[in-house]
Amino acid sequence: MATTYIRRLDGRRPPQGSSSAGRFKSNPMRGGGSSRRTSGDGIHRSSGGRPSPRQGGGGRGGKRGFQEMQVDLSRLINKAVPAAETPAYVPEHAFVDFEVEQALKDNIISKGYVNPTPIQDQSIVHVLAGKDIVGMAQTGTGKTAAFLIPLIDKVLKNANERVLIMVPTRELAIQIEQEFYGFSKRLNLNSVVCVGGAGIDPQIRVLRRKPAFVIGTPGRLKDLMERRELDLSKFGTVVLDEADRMLDMGFIPDMRFILGHMPENRHTLFFSATMSREIENLIGSFLNDPVRVMVKTRDTASTIDQDVVRAGRGEEKFNKLVELLKRPDFEKTLVFGRTKFGVERMTRDLVRSGIRAESIHGDKTHGKRQKALSLFKADHVDVLVATDVAARGLDISGVSHVINYDLPATYEDYTHRIGRTGRAGKGGMALTFIDG
Ligand code: AMP
Repeated sequence: MATTYIRRLDGRRPPQGSSSAGRFKSNPMRGGGSSRRTSGDGIHRSSGGRPSPRQGGGGRGGKRGFQEMQVDLSRLINKAVPAAETPAYVPEHAFVDFEVEQALKDNIISKGYVNPTPIQDQSIVHVLAGKDIVGMAQTGTGKTAAFLIPLIDKVLKNANERVLIMVPTRELAIQIEQEFYGFSKRLNLNSVVCVGGAGIDPQIRVLRRKPAFVIGTPGRLKDLMERRELDLSKFGTVVLDEADRMLDMGFIPDMRFILGHMPENRHTLFFSATMSREIENLIGSFLNDPVRVMVKTRDTASTIDQDVVRAGRGEEKFNKLVELLKRPDFEKTLVFGRTKFGVERMTRDLVRSGIRAESIHGDKTHGKRQKALSLFKADHVDVLVATDVAARGLDISGVSHVINYDLPATYEDYTHRIGRTGRAGKGGMALTFIDG
């Protein structure tokens, strides 16, 4: 029977907000960690109590990979408990209640959606009323439909309306378009994905037909504007999705450039998984009197079983990885490495060790990334090895394990990584390799 995990046994929550975005800190006396014993599989089990200074002093783990990173083990170990203990969210609305076109409602229903998720429940009415929105939500909360449903309705009611959706990664753009297809069936609406790493000419051809929805990454959108193939002066609506990630990736100048070419009185929807002063500044400059929807984001760090794996370096570490991946319970595993080169090499070595693995990172062409992703999604490979940027925002169902082979740079990256497992009511496990 599948078990759903929801909260730490000790009731502690990892720090949220800006502190969680900081680098891991080594502080063995933080407490709340656990004394650990090593079982034969090298995975350390938590059994309560404080870590000893040696156990907590995971700074040793930072000697390789991220030089400056130190590890607080207590943040990497968590025993999740069954979900039955948390009350289910009771939505205020049902999809049938929203005042959207019947044909759109039919598509929502045929997608199998019955009840809105919290972000949908709390933002759709405001978007329908034309309000600017700040939605604090991660991937996995249903935020895509929270903006697509009311915006499709807006376009249906006004054929001249055009919508720009700006996202940090190609993968996210494609995922949004796929969701758009589901909602826009038989509605005679067009869309185009404008992302780097894919040929620009086909994008230009579609753009010339003036599709109602343009979904793209900032760099490519700017490029298309500079070639005079994208005129944003007629776009009345913009969605900035995963704005915090766009900030992290250095897209702010491009975003300012792009928004600077849109009408001042545009309708702006802004989604971010985290809040910070810089994000507040963006909200202040891009939005007009927004409604803020702060649904409790999925507390991934507490809903997933987490543990560390002590292993030496080099071959010993790699062999440990192979040993884990060959276990039958590691049905569908996402392995994170730090560099594109390391990810590529690890994948090659895994394949040589008899493991069905694919890789996804920024050095691969767009087509190859999509291919790897679909092989993994369709269970044709069991392991996907990824860098942080490549994996951000991916919606892959049924991931049984996430393995941090290399430590992430920040705790926020850690929660993003492990959030790829334990989704949609399924249990999941995250394991982090540390020096041992
Ligand atoms: P998102 O956070 O937008 O990436 O959505 C995460 C997943 O939840 C996607 O696979 C959606 O198709 C699915 N989803 C979104 N909203 C609903 C809903 N109201 N009911 C059922 N599934 C949903």
